[in-house]
Amino acid sequence: MSRSTARSHPPGLVGFRVPIPRFAAPELVIPEVLPEDERQWVPQSANVWFRPLMLNVTQGYFVNILRVRKTGVLSRHRHDGPVHAHVLKGRWYYLEHEWTATEGSYAHEVPGEVHTLYVPDDVSEMMTLFHVTGAYTYLNGEGMPVGHEDVFTKIEAAAQHYETVGLGEDYVKQFIR
Ligand code: FE
Repeated sequence: MSRSTARSHPPGLVGFRVPIPRFAAPELVIPEVLPEDERQWVPQSANVWFRPLMLNVTQGYFVNILRVRKTGVLSRHRHDGPVHAHVLKGRWYYLEHEWTATEGSYAHEVPGEVHTLYVPDDVSEMMTLFHVTGAYTYLNGEGMPVGHEDVFTKIEAAAQHYETVGLGEDYVKQFIR
Protein backbone atom coordinates (compact mmCIF):
# COMPACT_ATOMS: atom_id res chain seq x y z
CA MET A 1 0.00 0.00 0.00
CA SER A 2 1.44 3.32 -0.98
CA ARG A 3 -0.50 5.50 1.43
CA SER A 4 -0.15 5.30 5.18
CA THR A 5 -3.18 5.12 7.42
CA ALA A 6 -1.14 5.62 10.59
CA ARG A 7 -2.06 8.53 12.86
CA SER A 8 -1.88 9.51 16.52
CA HIS A 9 -4.84 9.84 18.91
CA PRO A 10 -6.06 13.16 20.27
CA PRO A 11 -4.57 13.80 23.76
CA GLY A 12 -6.37 11.89 26.53
CA LEU A 13 -8.26 9.56 24.20
CA VAL A 14 -7.53 5.85 24.09
CA GLY A 15 -9.23 2.93 22.42
CA PHE A 16 -11.12 0.29 24.38
CA ARG A 17 -8.80 -2.18 26.01
CA VAL A 18 -11.29 -5.03 25.67
CA PRO A 19 -9.54 -7.71 23.62
CA ILE A 20 -11.20 -8.81 20.41
CA PRO A 21 -11.82 -12.57 20.13
CA ARG A 22 -8.64 -14.51 19.61
CA PHE A 23 -9.85 -16.04 16.37
CA ALA A 24 -11.33 -12.93 14.82
CA ALA A 25 -9.97 -12.20 11.35
CA PRO A 26 -7.85 -9.09 10.92
CA GLU A 27 -9.59 -6.02 9.59
CA LEU A 28 -9.01 -5.02 6.00
CA VAL A 29 -8.28 -1.41 5.07
CA ILE A 30 -7.37 -0.28 1.57
CA PRO A 31 -6.38 3.40 1.37
CA GLU A 32 -6.12 3.52 -2.41
CA VAL A 33 -9.28 2.01 -3.85
CA LEU A 34 -8.40 3.35 -7.31
CA PRO A 35 -4.66 2.71 -7.48
CA GLU A 36 -2.29 4.62 -9.74
CA ASP A 37 -0.03 1.58 -9.95
CA GLU A 38 -1.32 -0.20 -13.06
CA ARG A 39 -0.10 -3.56 -11.76
CA GLN A 40 -2.92 -3.52 -9.21
CA TRP A 41 -5.51 -3.80 -11.97
CA VAL A 42 -6.10 -7.39 -12.98
CA PRO A 43 -6.92 -7.84 -16.67
CA GLN A 44 -10.24 -9.61 -17.16
CA SER A 45 -10.67 -9.31 -20.93
CA ALA A 46 -9.62 -6.80 -23.59
CA ASN A 47 -9.91 -3.30 -22.05
CA VAL A 48 -11.60 -4.67 -18.93
CA TRP A 49 -9.89 -4.92 -15.53
CA PHE A 50 -10.82 -5.56 -11.92
CA ARG A 51 -9.24 -4.29 -8.75
CA PRO A 52 -9.85 -6.61 -5.76
CA LEU A 53 -10.83 -5.09 -2.43
CA MET A 54 -12.19 -8.09 -0.52
CA LEU A 55 -12.07 -11.74 -1.52
CA ASN A 56 -14.12 -13.64 1.04
CA VAL A 57 -13.68 -17.40 0.86
CA THR A 58 -15.69 -18.31 3.95
CA GLN A 59 -18.83 -16.38 3.04
CA GLY A 60 -18.46 -16.75 -0.70
CA TYR A 61 -18.42 -13.19 -1.93
CA PHE A 62 -16.06 -10.64 -3.42
CA VAL A 63 -15.87 -6.87 -3.61
CA ASN A 64 -14.01 -5.29 -6.49
CA ILE A 65 -13.82 -2.32 -8.80
CA LEU A 66 -14.62 -3.14 -12.39
CA ARG A 67 -12.87 -0.79 -14.83
CA VAL A 68 -14.01 -0.78 -18.44
CA ARG A 69 -12.46 1.15 -21.32
CA LYS A 70 -14.61 -0.17 -24.14
CA THR A 71 -18.21 0.21 -25.11
CA GLY A 72 -20.99 -2.10 -26.17
CA VAL A 73 -21.98 -5.47 -24.72
CA LEU A 74 -19.66 -6.62 -21.92
CA SER A 75 -21.22 -9.87 -20.77
CA ARG A 76 -24.47 -11.75 -20.39
CA HIS A 77 -24.80 -13.65 -17.14
CA ARG A 78 -27.07 -15.10 -14.49
CA HIS A 79 -26.60 -14.38 -10.77
CA ASP A 80 -26.99 -17.00 -8.05
CA GLY A 81 -26.61 -14.43 -5.30
CA PRO A 82 -27.26 -10.74 -4.74
CA VAL A 83 -25.10 -7.95 -6.12
CA HIS A 84 -24.58 -4.44 -4.77
CA ALA A 85 -23.24 -1.93 -7.27
CA HIS A 86 -22.02 1.64 -6.81
CA VAL A 87 -21.06 3.51 -9.98
CA LEU A 88 -17.88 5.55 -9.45
CA LYS A 89 -17.44 6.78 -13.01
CA GLY A 90 -19.29 6.65 -16.32
CA ARG A 91 -22.56 4.81 -16.71
CA TRP A 92 -23.99 1.51 -17.94
CA TYR A 93 -27.23 -0.34 -18.22
CA TYR A 94 -28.70 -3.76 -18.75
CA LEU A 95 -30.40 -4.54 -22.05
CA GLU A 96 -33.14 -6.25 -20.01
CA HIS A 97 -34.00 -3.18 -17.90
CA GLU A 98 -35.20 0.36 -18.53
CA TRP A 99 -33.00 2.05 -15.96
CA THR A 100 -29.43 3.32 -16.34
CA ALA A 101 -26.79 3.09 -13.61
CA THR A 102 -25.36 6.60 -13.72
CA GLU A 103 -22.28 7.99 -11.99
CA GLY A 104 -22.86 8.08 -8.24
CA SER A 105 -25.79 5.70 -8.28
CA TYR A 106 -26.38 2.47 -6.39
CA ALA A 107 -28.07 -0.62 -7.79
CA HIS A 108 -29.08 -3.92 -6.22
CA GLU A 109 -29.32 -7.01 -8.41
CA VAL A 110 -31.33 -9.93 -7.11
CA PRO A 111 -30.53 -13.66 -7.20
CA GLY A 112 -31.94 -15.25 -10.35
CA GLU A 113 -31.38 -12.10 -12.37
CA VAL A 114 -30.16 -12.64 -15.95
CA HIS A 115 -28.82 -9.60 -17.74
CA THR A 116 -26.57 -8.21 -20.42
CA LEU A 117 -24.24 -5.43 -19.30
CA TYR A 118 -23.94 -2.64 -21.83
CA VAL A 119 -21.69 0.45 -21.82
CA PRO A 120 -22.93 3.32 -24.05
CA ASP A 121 -20.76 4.58 -26.91
CA ASP A 122 -19.94 7.96 -25.35
CA VAL A 123 -18.52 6.49 -22.12
CA SER A 124 -14.70 6.48 -22.36
CA GLU A 125 -14.20 4.86 -18.97
CA MET A 126 -16.57 3.15 -16.57
CA MET A 127 -15.69 2.20 -13.01
CA THR A 128 -18.11 0.49 -10.65
CA LEU A 129 -17.70 -1.08 -7.24
CA PHE A 130 -19.42 -4.46 -7.27
CA HIS A 131 -20.12 -6.58 -4.19
CA VAL A 132 -20.97 -10.01 -5.62
CA THR A 133 -22.22 -12.89 -3.48
CA GLY A 134 -22.09 -16.45 -4.78
CA ALA A 135 -21.40 -17.11 -8.43
CA TYR A 136 -22.60 -15.78 -11.72
CA THR A 137 -22.76 -17.87 -14.85
CA TYR A 138 -21.80 -16.53 -18.26
CA LEU A 139 -24.40 -17.37 -20.91
CA ASN A 140 -24.14 -17.56 -24.68
CA GLY A 141 -26.72 -16.17 -27.10
CA GLU A 142 -28.92 -19.23 -26.59
CA GLY A 143 -28.83 -18.85 -22.81
CA MET A 144 -26.51 -21.83 -22.31
CA PRO A 145 -23.77 -21.66 -19.65
CA VAL A 146 -20.29 -20.98 -21.01
CA GLY A 147 -18.37 -20.18 -17.84
CA HIS A 148 -18.66 -18.81 -14.37
CA GLU A 149 -17.16 -16.33 -11.95
CA ASP A 150 -16.93 -16.43 -8.15
CA VAL A 151 -14.50 -15.47 -5.41
CA PHE A 152 -12.25 -18.38 -6.34
CA THR A 153 -11.93 -17.48 -10.03
CA LYS A 154 -11.16 -13.93 -8.90
CA ILE A 155 -8.41 -15.13 -6.56
CA GLU A 156 -6.86 -17.33 -9.26
CA ALA A 157 -6.91 -14.55 -11.85
CA ALA A 158 -5.43 -12.03 -9.43
CA ALA A 159 -2.75 -14.43 -8.15
CA GLN A 160 -1.62 -15.26 -11.71
CA HIS A 161 -1.59 -11.61 -12.71
CA TYR A 162 0.40 -10.48 -9.65
CA GLU A 163 2.91 -13.23 -10.32
CA THR A 164 3.23 -12.10 -13.94
CA VAL A 165 3.79 -8.43 -13.10
CA GLY A 166 6.38 -9.23 -10.43
CA LEU A 167 4.37 -8.63 -7.26
CA GLY A 168 4.26 -12.36 -6.58
CA GLU A 169 1.12 -14.47 -6.35
CA ASP A 170 1.03 -14.11 -2.55
CA TYR A 171 0.18 -10.44 -3.07
CA VAL A 172 -3.45 -11.54 -3.43
CA LYS A 173 -3.51 -12.84 0.14
CA GLN A 174 -3.96 -9.37 1.64
CA PHE A 175 -7.47 -9.25 0.12
CA ILE A 176 -8.55 -12.69 1.32
CA ARG A 177 -10.63 -13.18 4.47
FE1 FE B 1 -24.55 -8.74 -13.21
